Amino acid sequence: MITIRQKLVAASKAVMITNGQHNKKKYIVVHETDNTNIGADADAHARLQWNGNSRQASWHWQVDDQEAVQSFEHFWECWGAGTYQGNTEGIQIEICVNQDGNYQKAVQNAAQLIAKIMKEENISIDHVVQHHFFSGKNCPRNLRAGKVKWSQFLDMIRQAHDVPKTPIGTNKYRILTGTYSTKQAVDSAAQLMKIRFGWLVYIEQDGAYYRIKTGTFTGLSAVKQAETKIKTAKLAQLTYILDV
Ligand SMILES: [Zn+2]
Repeated sequence: MITIRQKLVAASKAVMITNGQHNKKKYIVVHETDNTNIGADADAHARLQWNGNSRQASWHWQVDDQEAVQSFEHFWECWGAGTYQGNTEGIQIEICVNQDGNYQKAVQNAAQLIAKIMKEENISIDHVVQHHFFSGKNCPRNLRAGKVKWSQFLDMIRQAHDVPKTPIGTNKYRILTGTYSTKQAVDSAAQLMKIRFGWLVYIEQDGAYYRIKTGTFTGLSAVKQAETKIKTAKLAQLTYILDV
């Protein structure tokens, strides 16, 4: 099941890259990012918006093969559809097309997300449209080319069930670090994670080297935040997220 979370752009930034807060929410507008770079996933696009996108563009949701991340509440009139009507009446959804992601899965996740939004905002399936509908742009490119047929995509939306209600994932994860070459190095990093972050940590021997494994975090969002803390504090060069 898709994980849904929010990483909302601050209102002070949102006012500069939207038309305001009176979105009529009549349409759900489907896009693809067109960014095939490795790592150009939902998290990366959400961070881009959160940090203050330098382009004159904004969108409510980005979805990849793992999760959907919301950047703007639906009342914002995001700049995504290329026309005044599309921007002021549409909820903009970007499907990620990063080459290290699973496109089919991302499309399925988008269908689940859209089913959820339709229900919450009372929007019908005939108002789920392509970016192309408003501006004529060739977007969503792969869906328009039939990589997944548009009619099939609409069927996925109709058939979506188990639509998550809470914005927090409930899967459990741990972080495993890369190796440390000395006991002293691993001890000091583990100690800092315990004291500074208050985490449970375990030291594991790996041949002549050592690794740190953390206790569990609930939700992809929580574990990704924890990973960022480790990297920001430079406590490990490499980290891996493990499903529990
Ligand atoms: Zn688009």
